[in-house]
Amino acid sequence: MNVLVINAGSSSLKYQLMNVETQEILAIGICEKVGSGDSFHKYGLGDAERLDETPLKDHDEAMALVIEALVDGPAKAVGSLSEIDAVGHRVVQGGQHYPVSTVIDEEAIEKITELSVLAPLHNPPALMGIHACRKHMPGVPMVAVFDTSFFQTLEPKAYMYPLPYELYEKHGVRKYGMHGTSHRYVSERAADVLGIPYGKARVITLHLGNGCSASAVKEGIAVDTSMGLTPLDGLMMGTRCGAIDPAIVPFVMECEGLDTNGVNNLMNKKSGLLGISGVSNDLRSVQEAAEAGNGRAALAIDMYAKAVKKYVGIYLAVMGGADGIVFTAGIGENSAMMREKILEGLEGLGIVLDAGKNALRGGERFISADDSPVKVMVIPTNEEYMIARDTFDLVSALSK
Ligand code: AMP
Repeated sequence: MNVLVINAGSSSLKYQLMNVETQEILAIGICEKVGSGDSFHKYGLGDAERLDETPLKDHDEAMALVIEALVDGPAKAVGSLSEIDAVGHRVVQGGQHYPVSTVIDEEAIEKITELSVLAPLHNPPALMGIHACRKHMPGVPMVAVFDTSFFQTLEPKAYMYPLPYELYEKHGVRKYGMHGTSHRYVSERAADVLGIPYGKARVITLHLGNGCSASAVKEGIAVDTSMGLTPLDGLMMGTRCGAIDPAIVPFVMECEGLDTNGVNNLMNKKSGLLGISGVSNDLRSVQEAAEAGNGRAALAIDMYAKAVKKYVGIYLAVMGGADGIVFTAGIGENSAMMREKILEGLEGLGIVLDAGKNALRGGERFISADDSPVKVMVIPTNEEYMIARDTFDLVSALSK
């Protein structure tokens, strides 16, 4: 089955066409700056990547262009539209309504629209992608895969905030978590690599990219995660502050004269590695600056590592230990320096890194010492595969 995986952001439309049975990627691409005058389409596999500058008014035009590129043109992947069997959409917020992925019908569209109040930046673009696919690929079955589903297994003591209970009842104020598809994928892979059944493994998963989150996965289900009602909570990130004293919010609003938009913008776009270093949200640039003697850049790296280290400790306590720790996403997969800083000094907790293995590059791999009681792994994430797999499962069941 060929599944088109769509990840629509506010001004982007990312896609991948995959044969689920063979896991072969048939096409890959992204439309960026959709809605602005300088939009472009970057697509093609490996060295054959192409870039077409082309005005794209909205997601509808972007989708039309993507379909055209898939069936025709230099990076053509299929002979006709009929060879695309299903579409899987990444949707950030599924609320309490979607503990698992769902086939997209009128009711699902209504529900995802309703849930936009909880994810005003994320669900509306996903809906634009869904509507565009419906228009340009009529009759092709579609599935929504939610970032939040994996964390619907959390118990109330893990997902409730110590705020008046009515806020939960009236407005759904609780922890939902994000990056669930990534945490699900890498925890499943970790159990496999460790040779422990998923239902018996205890894994701490660290998704460290521009957005960062940590999860505790015990006996095949998520029991805790660092992101909350929104993707701002938890770890320090590229431009997001993560967990801070909540009283800072009204204090800063008052002393800086900010309204809610202003303070949201400050915490989401101007904080994290960028806010502390003043250099960049990109760890590579921050590291370069630190190595050149920039003290604030060095501080940003130290703070980032400490925030992740604290979550490792929290989740060891939450699960009563761990069989494995997984690093994934841009920083987790690529920065040996950051992995080392995060885990240094944790030997007493049974976490012993092997500096030589940590310095090597590659795909799925162990980076802990052979006799480390807790195994440490790098596992490249593959959210697209999970979305394609869920789509395959649900669409196959439709025709039975
Ligand atoms: P992602 O959101 O998963 O694409 O991750 C983006 C982050 O990964 C950025 O902070 C990058 O600086 C970081 N990153 C990517 N490659 C490397 C690398 N080779 N070394 C250090 N950080 C990296």
